[in-house]
Amino acid sequence: MHSKKFTSSKPAANITKLSPLGLESNHLVADFKRYYGHRLGRDENCRSPYYAYEALALAISDRLIERWKATYNAYKKEDCKRAFYLSMEFLMGRTLSNAMLNLGVTDVAKSAMYELGLEIEELIDSEPDAGLGNGGLGRLAACFIDSCATLQLPVTGYGLRYEYGMFSQTLVNGEQVEKPDHWLRNGNIWEIERPEYAHRIKFGGHTESHIDERGKKRVCWIDTHDVLAVPFDTPIPGYKNGTVNTLRLWKATATEEFDLQEFNAGDYAESVAAKNTAENITMVLYPNDANENGKALRLRQQYLLASASLQDVIANWVGRHGNDFSQFAEKNCFQLNDTHPSIAVAELMRLLIDIHGLDWDHAWKITRNTMAYTNHTLLPEALERWSVNLFESLLPRLLEIIYEINSHFIAEVSVHWPGDHDRMRRMSLIEEGNEKQVRMAYLAIVGCYSVNGVAELHSKLLQEGLFRDFYELWPHKFNNKTNGVTPRRWLAACNPDLAKLISETIGDGWLTDLSQLEKLKPYADDPKFREKWYNIKQECKSKLVEYKRTEMGVDLSTDALFDVQVKRIHEYKRQLLNVLHVIHLYDRIKRGETKNWTNRCVLIGGKAAPGYYMAKKTIKFINNVADVINNDPDVGDKLKLVFLPNYRVSAMEKICPGADLSEQISTAGKEASGTGNMKFMMNGALTIGTLDGANIEIREEVGDDNFFLFGLTEGQVEELRSHYDPLSIIEQDEDLKRVIKLIECGHFSLLEPGIFDDVVNSIRSSNDPWMTVADFRSYVDAQNRAEIAYLDKDNWTRMSILNCASSGKFSTDRTISDYNREIWKLTPVAPLIS
Ligand SMILES: *Cc1c(COP(=O)(O)O)cnc(C)c1O
Repeated sequence: MHSKKFTSSKPAANITKLSPLGLESNHLVADFKRYYGHRLGRDENCRSPYYAYEALALAISDRLIERWKATYNAYKKEDCKRAFYLSMEFLMGRTLSNAMLNLGVTDVAKSAMYELGLEIEELIDSEPDAGLGNGGLGRLAACFIDSCATLQLPVTGYGLRYEYGMFSQTLVNGEQVEKPDHWLRNGNIWEIERPEYAHRIKFGGHTESHIDERGKKRVCWIDTHDVLAVPFDTPIPGYKNGTVNTLRLWKATATEEFDLQEFNAGDYAESVAAKNTAENITMVLYPNDANENGKALRLRQQYLLASASLQDVIANWVGRHGNDFSQFAEKNCFQLNDTHPSIAVAELMRLLIDIHGLDWDHAWKITRNTMAYTNHTLLPEALERWSVNLFESLLPRLLEIIYEINSHFIAEVSVHWPGDHDRMRRMSLIEEGNEKQVRMAYLAIVGCYSVNGVAELHSKLLQEGLFRDFYELWPHKFNNKTNGVTPRRWLAACNPDLAKLISETIGDGWLTDLSQLEKLKPYADDPKFREKWYNIKQECKSKLVEYKRTEMGVDLSTDALFDVQVKRIHEYKRQLLNVLHVIHLYDRIKRGETKNWTNRCVLIGGKAAPGYYMAKKTIKFINNVADVINNDPDVGDKLKLVFLPNYRVSAMEKICPGADLSEQISTAGKEASGTGNMKFMMNGALTIGTLDGANIEIREEVGDDNFFLFGLTEGQVEELRSHYDPLSIIEQDEDLKRVIKLIECGHFSLLEPGIFDDVVNSIRSSNDPWMTVADFRSYVDAQNRAEIAYLDKDNWTRMSILNCASSGKFSTDRTISDYNREIWKLTPVAPLIS
């Protein structure tokens, strides 16, 4: 068998020494030609822009890799404290344009390609999205690692290299059809496989204990079925600072002895096929957003991520310090992105105790001083629980450790609240019942020194509601870190014309200090500046129409108000409320009530989890309503409704610059933060929104005059719940009554009778958790205010500028600085220039 481990002595310096690569146009042209002609073997007969993309990407990648080594060497030399961001999802999108921006070669590369007769936009658009996430949570992880590199913080992202990412969405007869996303089909030039750093991951088997020569009880986890986790590294460049950090994604493969064993076993073909069971673990991303899954394969994924990443960090540690872990907690910190990787708490205990021989108390002290947990949702259906039986069969040693953590923990609770058995039952890591369950969020809280929510309201609700008992026990652990987005991707790269105007006006310091956008505020009253701003916004709207023209089949006028809601389709996000308003506008047109009318294009996009019935119905509903409205000659340009298929990062990069109005209309208390809201604001859209998640902070920053607020507050929602009576609300609102009637009478389902019965029933039910009709009137009123405001173009543009100018808080540079100051406590390290 071949071994990929390098056991020979270190390569001589003369084979690793490289001279720096040039960043001028002629350097890029030369490298491009060499890659295109030699490595890729293409010539002038090749029509596909994909290979030109690859050739340019290879040239850019080379330049990242030299900075990557310099950064690695600096971290090593400094022996600095490090943080590791563990996330089941990294929704990276495309890499090329961001890499060029951060290297500072955007313009140079554009002219280099132009010289070769190539349109760089076409190359950029040939790159497939790395869709290794569902939505906000995965995109947050991607924005975070961008900011860590820009702040020169020694942070590594750890995740899974799914062979198939988020499915691609097509529409057939208005319904979502999922297609597998084989994003690696043509290879991935940005990653480097590092089999020399593979780790072995155990599953199944059983445990045995014995007393060792020093009289200590030792546990062995044996007869396991192991798989290998092989790392693939992607460089993560900071903004024009020479730093390049690492995103390390694990791929599951069969072990080498698996190969050996099966070669000797005789049943050759069968056993090679059985390799799939190992490789399956990282085959596919679970496409559920804000919903737990409960499948064994998902637990395998979570454990593989936790175990491989922790083994990786510990191997590095042991390489430097041997088995001396006394400084480990001072030098390492793990941030868990939601509950998904929380098994890391138990796995770190296992590695320290079973593998490295630490005693329980020492291991626990280290664990509790290195682990930090971010919660992303209050929705109870998203809180992960694993059946004890499943745990027992898949990870028996981990279950033992969790039981032991629990017994120490319950003892702590009983000291704090003597005799309070109800509280002990409530707080236990094990939920009793028909089927015993492990409460993973509680494991995270018990094992971490920091627990944070992702916006002020969300963090407050965690403390008062979901995690109240824990907050009473450990108030010092709880804190808030309001989310953000990276202004490099979400303003500079996706909206270059607006970025240029901003830089010409206030300088380019905003790129790394977004609070400087404030300097734009005085220009909101400058007519010349306003005109430039308006023209750029209109140009972005044209580009958005162009981008979507083929898919949309309808013509949109850029004079109309572009009213956009793009995000995962979920009942709590209330796309239905949006459609009710659209039907109300349609009804007004049909009744001739169009005084002071504002033409409006309503754009809705997003994926539904494949098993989420109501979300899929919502997509069909949007498309049927769109079909009626867009084909009614009475409606004309007054109103358009369009569903934008296959929403993803690269789509959002074209959508958010062209939006006038950003729909952030979740039921108050349900959207933890939202980050789409921030991307829109940064690009000068105004928000229509509830007092939910980060909307509250957005409104605080921009001021109530520049925000369209509506709806019940979180407190009012909870108060209303016990006596919510949607039928009487509908009865008392003539507009709403007509809207409901239009749906019920089959106006949007003439050929498909009854298909929207469940939609209507859900909003008419007094048990509707999202209380859609409760906010209808106030939503329509806010939409009216938006329409009237839009009629005054000049004032709208003023508000647009003020929104962008007030978005400084929502940079992940600020978020990450907060994480670092209050949780990680890392010192920035500049790369070593050799
Ligand atoms: C920003 C983003 C999200 C999150 O959007 P929300 O409106 O906060 O739910 C989801 N998906 C993609 C592709 C994004 O870019």
